[in-house]
Amino acid sequence: MTLQSEGVDLGRSVVSKVEMAQKYRFACPTCEERVIVDRDVRDKLLTQGCVVCSASVYPNCFEPV
Ligand SMILES: [Zn+2]
Repeated sequence: MTLQSEGVDLGRSVVSKVEMAQKYRFACPTCEERVIVDRDVRDKLLTQGCVVCSASVYPNCFEPV
């Protein structure tokens, strides 16, 4: 029976998932769009610009939440 050890592993992966899913509050300096994003979306905004007004976005537009 491996049920118990699977439960432990599941708990561990939940903890690391929470750490991976760091959220950021994005505030666009140009159009003042404000939205909570995760790390993937943050990276996308940094490379592609604001989704609303296309302005360049900088790391200081993000604040960890
Ligand atoms: Zn914008």
